[in-house]
Amino acid sequence: MAGELPTNAEIADRFALLGDLLEIEGAVRHRVLAYRRAAARVRSTPASVAAMAVAGRATDLPDIGATLQSKIAELTETGTIAALDAIRERVPEGLAAIAGLEGIGPKRAVALWRDLGVTDVEQLAQAVADGRLGEVSGFGPATRDRLVEQLAQRAARGADHAERIPLGRALPLAEEIAADLRAAVPGARVEVAGSLRRGRESVHDIDIVAATDRPAALQDALAANTAVERVLSRGDAAMAVATHVGVRIELAIGPPGSFGNLLQHATGSAAHNVRLRELAVRRGLSVSQHGIAGPEGTAAMADEDGVYAALGLAPIPPELREDAGEIEAAQSGPLEPLVALPDIRGELHSHTTWSDGTLGVTAMVEAARALGYGYLAISDHSRSLAMAGGLDADRVRRQWEEIDEENARRSDITVLKATEVDILADGRIDFDDELLAGFDWVTASIHSALTQDAERITRRVLAAVESPFVDTIGHPTGRMLGRRDAAPVDIGRLAEAAARTGTLLEINGQPRRLDLDSQMARRALAAGARLTIGADAHSAEALGYIRFGVLVARRAGARPDQVANTAEWPALAAARAGRLRAAGLY
Ligand SMILES: [Zn+2]
Ligand SMILES: [Zn+2]
Repeated sequence: MAGELPTNAEIADRFALLGDLLEIEGAVRHRVLAYRRAAARVRSTPASVAAMAVAGRATDLPDIGATLQSKIAELTETGTIAALDAIRERVPEGLAAIAGLEGIGPKRAVALWRDLGVTDVEQLAQAVADGRLGEVSGFGPATRDRLVEQLAQRAARGADHAERIPLGRALPLAEEIAADLRAAVPGARVEVAGSLRRGRESVHDIDIVAATDRPAALQDALAANTAVERVLSRGDAAMAVATHVGVRIELAIGPPGSFGNLLQHATGSAAHNVRLRELAVRRGLSVSQHGIAGPEGTAAMADEDGVYAALGLAPIPPELREDAGEIEAAQSGPLEPLVALPDIRGELHSHTTWSDGTLGVTAMVEAARALGYGYLAISDHSRSLAMAGGLDADRVRRQWEEIDEENARRSDITVLKATEVDILADGRIDFDDELLAGFDWVTASIHSALTQDAERITRRVLAAVESPFVDTIGHPTGRMLGRRDAAPVDIGRLAEAAARTGTLLEINGQPRRLDLDSQMARRALAAGARLTIGADAHSAEALGYIRFGVLVARRAGARPDQVANTAEWPALAAARAGRLRAAGLY
């Protein structure tokens, strides 16, 4: 049945188109915005909205009323929405893309249609090439130049066919380029923006914004960057380049005085910015990347916080800007601080050459110490994961001897006897209780039989949650971005059980895992569960993956006290001892 349902993207595309065509037709503003809000909501909902609509539950979502729900149900049952079909008869569909071009908008799109008979972007490109734009009123040289630039970008984008690249690859690249630009033009403000700044797990392109009095020098520096393959387009305030890794970079440059507006605008998300525009309209203001315009003229903000303050909002961290309640929260006062990288006091998930890591215990401990950590858990795999060199009981005990020696030699960091023990296909733990009792920290993970049905795999993970010896469930769904979907673990039941037993749930920071993801972590927190953030490091460098886990936690709205490894080891050990006592052990 699921195969027949329209996807959330299909529903969202239709609502967005309806909104665009209504706007071109001159419909009242609130109808247009209602469809756009609904489109953004449907797109960002993790569950099937079509299934919800059929069950009469889509109205549980914000921004989806009974009318919109009936349209989703209509699309599900008939494959079409009558209201959309009707407006397509009156307004050519291709005008929506034309109106969406910067500097065009609905009125000029209608003028192009009326005066030139242009009904889609391809015809518009042809009209521009033929020099027919002069026949249309309202197209000065500046508008025309901007249009030419955008059409060139669109053509290049089509040829590039850019795919999504993971956060773990895109963010370091973007930061490197931003640093290079700052060095090239001293005094320039340069920041990574877009979905990357919001910590999305994968991105289409890299947005960088800058403020400088020397835009040409900044653009030259970007063109000369070794990561850049070629320049796709270049205007006064905008530039797009292709990189060798395949991701596009878009650089927007503005004056220093309105850098806050530009950064805020370019960070998004679209849904968040739609809501801000609505708030502004209610105050008689209008928000853009240039400033906030009102009856007394346009006020520009050098910093983002100023943009939010002008709309009566407390500052909102980029990771929360998805219109998921953050605006309402910021209306009633400062937001609670989110967990941040400096809060992390130690690493609870790492591997050495004892199993499938690349370094020995001492080298990993040195690397953790260099990060300022107070503790490092050496959590090699257990015996059943033979292909990863999993340890049997004898090797575990020999490893403990090495860890004892390591601890005897140092006072600056505590090395924990830990394990990433397999949760076997039948829900049993790969080590017996006697051995488990000897560890300082136990992470239990699923690595095999990930295709079990939802009920079986959920019960299997729940069995590990119920074990008093298990401290954390590692990468709870086993997903691998781009390779393997999340196993159908029921996160609601998992979170409920974890909240009851005090078992922690990991956000695994490996760029290919990011598991739990931010939506699941949010649900876990709402159910009262607490988290660990782990790098799952198999090398010294990979200890740095913790930052990606922190981004996921921030997107989930996690406070520092909701993440166990923001505590020092003695506090963590005491909490663990309390859990074991509560289970009647010791
Ligand atoms: Zn693992
Ligand atoms: Zn691991």
